[in-house]
Amino acid sequence: MGSMGRAETPAERRRKGPRFGANFMTVLEVSRELVCLCVDGVVADANSAGIAMLGAGSADQVVGRAFRDLVGGDYAGVIDDLLHLKEIEDSAFPIKVRHLDGGTFEAELQIHPARELGPAHAVVTARDISHQGRLARTARDSEDRFQALVERSMHLVLLCHGGRIGYINATGVAVLGGTDPSQFAGIPVSEIFAGDYREIVAADLGALLDEGGIMPMRLARLDGSTFDAQIKATKLPSQGAAPEYMVEARDITGQIRAVAALRHMNDTLEQQVAARTRELDEERARAVEARAFVESLLEAVPNPLWWKDTRGRYLGYNGAFRELHGVGPTDWIGRTTAEMVNPGFAAIASQADTQALAEAGRVQFEAHLEVAADRALDVVVNKTVWHGRDNRPEGVIGVMLDITERKRMEAELRRLATTDVLTGIFNRRHFMEMARIEVDRARRHGRPLVALMLDIDHFKRINDTHGHPVGDVAIKALADVCTQIIRHEDVLGRMGGEEFAIVLTETDLDGALLVAERLRQAVAAIRIPAELGTVAFTTSIGVAERLEGDATIDTILSRADMALYSAKRSGRNKVAVG
Ligand code: GH3
Ligand code: MG
Ligand code: MG
Repeated sequence: MGSMGRAETPAERRRKGPRFGANFMTVLEVSRELVCLCVDGVVADANSAGIAMLGAGSADQVVGRAFRDLVGGDYAGVIDDLLHLKEIEDSAFPIKVRHLDGGTFEAELQIHPARELGPAHAVVTARDISHQGRLARTARDSEDRFQALVERSMHLVLLCHGGRIGYINATGVAVLGGTDPSQFAGIPVSEIFAGDYREIVAADLGALLDEGGIMPMRLARLDGSTFDAQIKATKLPSQGAAPEYMVEARDITGQIRAVAALRHMNDTLEQQVAARTRELDEERARAVEARAFVESLLEAVPNPLWWKDTRGRYLGYNGAFRELHGVGPTDWIGRTTAEMVNPGFAAIASQADTQALAEAGRVQFEAHLEVAADRALDVVVNKTVWHGRDNRPEGVIGVMLDITERKRMEAELRRLATTDVLTGIFNRRHFMEMARIEVDRARRHGRPLVALMLDIDHFKRINDTHGHPVGDVAIKALADVCTQIIRHEDVLGRMGGEEFAIVLTETDLDGALLVAERLRQAVAAIRIPAELGTVAFTTSIGVAERLEGDATIDTILSRADMALYSAKRSGRNKVAVG
């Protein structure tokens, strides 16, 4: 029993190939492919689609022709063999089919033996694949374009299959220091990476591919030198097990250098800024120190010290100033001297300010300063102009010296220098000075003037009897009596010992004689209590008036002295005129 009794399954049927029946052409009219029946290689029949495809108007134009004539020369022999069933080719193969009008088109041809229709019968089917061919060409063209683009890219581009380089563009060859793509073909892609990157890529290529973005990495040239690059790896669609991917790399050495230069510049700038900031801080600290020093200095100065602007308004003052005026640190700031002190002082002070500013120098003045209702000071003030940055006067600095005590001492010294210590009246030198002035005045104005000389009578006896101190009291008593009797304008002086002189101004001889007589009597009336009893004494007085020719006080006094001498000779306790 064979398989004869059993129906074939469709799969078995497909394996055996088509079986043609007598009416198969009718059936294949529905096909849009070329179908034709060949007997001994000659076309016996063709369907409508086939007739049209061959550029024929009707079946007559193709029937009877050798099929080999319808295909390109190269294929003719093979086609003949196939059509004569000398060889069987199961699968379809591409072939150029000729149009009757001379053109060709690409077709996928298949020759099916059809012995069931007769010996040397074969059915030919052909499918126009021109369109497909065009697609393929376009694809090839665009691939060429892509290749050209990649080849001319300014960046390294390489294609890898698995871990190995399949393609590298010209730029890639150049940047990696090569001369020919063959130097890189087939080498592990990790080889183009430098140092740690090489190991990372070698160990885990997936990590590189999964990254997706652009990564900065380091690449190695053939000679071992390295450079920084931005890397992008892109996985390509591939059917195989090994991943296909494209690696792009861009040399960023220049960029890194530029960035480094910028960073360096930035650092340098930052350093400069930091240094300048430090300098400024130090300057500021020094300024603060200097200010603190100056403030301490100002406070340390025991004299009142202040500074004002060019319009005379107080800008500041020290502790001694605050103490002097009893004011707080800011009470007088912005005020002027005129507002704050007695008008007399303010007037002198503001005049000094003006002068100092005008002459841009120093001015000194003495003035009387009322610091309180009941307290006034004699002061010396020094004013100095202070200058600003452009050497313009900014104001006036004042320092005050309290000379109240000095003034008092000066007055005391002056008094001591002009006064007789025992009696308190003028001493000889000062009397002569004053008398000279009065004589000059009298002479100038032609006014009368009289000089008196007094000498205590027998004064030695007082000293001898009662002692020197009692004699001193007598001398003092006489001076007091004289002071009481004469006018304020008259001049009284102790000439030495118990001798006195008086200049009576604006007094003629008669008037002077009256005064002399009053003096004589008043002295005689003096009583001085002493241990050995009360002391009384008299005085002789010589009188001389200024005469026309008298040039000096000395002349007049010497005449008065002579008159005194004659008073003594004529018995003492007398007034005599010389
Ligand atoms: P006469 O009447 O002639 O003036 O006699 P007299 O004693 O006053 O003589 P004279 O004027 O020559 O003598 C002056 C005496 O006065 C001499 C001296 O011892 C004394 N004498 C001078 N200066 C002072 C003094 O400062 N104090 C005292 N206690 N005696 C003085
Ligand atoms: Mg005498
Ligand atoms: Mg005497």
